[in-house]
Amino acid sequence: MSDDYKGYRGATLEALRRFEARVWSEVRVETEAGAFEGLILPRSETADADHLVLKLISGYNVGVHHARILNIEVRGRKVADYKIPEKEFPKDAGKPRVKLFGTGGTIASRLDYRTGAVIPAFSPGELYGSVPELADVCNLETEKLYGVFSENMGPAEWQGTARAIAQAIKEGVDGVVIGHGTDTMHHTAAVLSFMLQDSPVPIVMVGSQRSSDRPSSDAALNLINAVRVAGHSDIAEIMVCMFGPTSDRYDLLHRGTRVRKMHSSYRSTFRTIGDIPLGRVDADGVQAFRQDYKRRRSDREVKLNTAFDDRVSIVYYYPNMKPDIIDSLIEQGYKGIVIAGTGLGHVNKPLYPALARARAAGVAVYMTVQTLWGYVQMYVYETGRELMDLGVVPCANMLPEVAYVKLGWALGQSQDLEEVKRIMLTPIASEITPREPHDGYLVFQGGVPEVNRFISHHWK
Ligand code: ASP
Repeated sequence: MSDDYKGYRGATLEALRRFEARVWSEVRVETEAGAFEGLILPRSETADADHLVLKLISGYNVGVHHARILNIEVRGRKVADYKIPEKEFPKDAGKPRVKLFGTGGTIASRLDYRTGAVIPAFSPGELYGSVPELADVCNLETEKLYGVFSENMGPAEWQGTARAIAQAIKEGVDGVVIGHGTDTMHHTAAVLSFMLQDSPVPIVMVGSQRSSDRPSSDAALNLINAVRVAGHSDIAEIMVCMFGPTSDRYDLLHRGTRVRKMHSSYRSTFRTIGDIPLGRVDADGVQAFRQDYKRRRSDREVKLNTAFDDRVSIVYYYPNMKPDIIDSLIEQGYKGIVIAGTGLGHVNKPLYPALARARAAGVAVYMTVQTLWGYVQMYVYETGRELMDLGVVPCANMLPEVAYVKLGWALGQSQDLEEVKRIMLTPIASEITPREPHDGYLVFQGGVPEVNRFISHHWK
């Protein structure tokens, strides 16, 4: 089929033909629900046959069902060329050396409208072509490790990423940035905090919620800020660098073990849980909010330990959960279970016999809280004590996802459950903190101006 109708078939193709519209036509489409103005985009072969896809002037894409199309008025044609120009990344001896690893996700991709596929843009030349400000900040080297959406990151990719970072540190980089899908960035940030300890340089994870072909993209700003932190800050920890407020004023820096994706679509989706963030970064530089962070060093020593046992699971408790859930994990040979319990760390009574069977089978069972904020406290109610008698170990204020990756990592070190317990309960990278500050629940959780606006609006 000619590229004029790329990807379209069935009734939608007929509609295009009927109104003499083609791919890249600038159109006004009238529907029962109103009119849309935009550019007809090609459709990927695997997409459904029922929708016409338009790129609106706002940059958003919409799908219009063929049955709703009343008229298509063709106003012109604009064949898009989305190729990013390759420019040679300039080297400047006075600037720090930063290594950017790509693992995939929205930040590494742009839509290729010719094929409809999402393709990576990752060579330094391509990045410099699309974000030239990077050259004002550092000398950039790039390496693509993976090209996956982050739900496909797992132990093998975590190990590969940790090894690549350790190698880059040995080779002398001043900082590392990891481009990653946002959906599971907090799992990877946490596991890297255990696999790579005492780094001499900053290790900064970054992503974007909106791809770079959209005007509202957060990709460029997040990337520039992440590179700034990697090259210039003295915080030698594993961090996530993403939008603080919903506007593009600054990025927040979150500790790898205390961070979580909290909104499915806002750009300010990452939040530090149970603490205040490490700091913020914008064009004026990095400002630390706290002093208890590990400082940059000039040596090249980093402790790399990638052992991981993937026979671990998270069980998110819900009322009326049946014991067969736990029994099937035991039968399938799982070695560790992290429960996200209700309130202070509870599950219903019918699960107790299954938990006793887990203990008898040598399965390590740890308790975290679904509330995310606050500590597991199993001494308050008798039920908590009973669970501890069944061998369930409370994880203090470790987040459920963090406990999950830490348990896999701990079981990778030892199968002796006492040793696993010692590892689990000994904080390595603030995954357990002695207390949660009173302002950790609210402060910086959305940008102070927004919190103020909210409060003044509701407390007149
Ligand atoms: N689904 C994507 C991912 O996590 C979303 C993103 O990159 O923000 O890979």
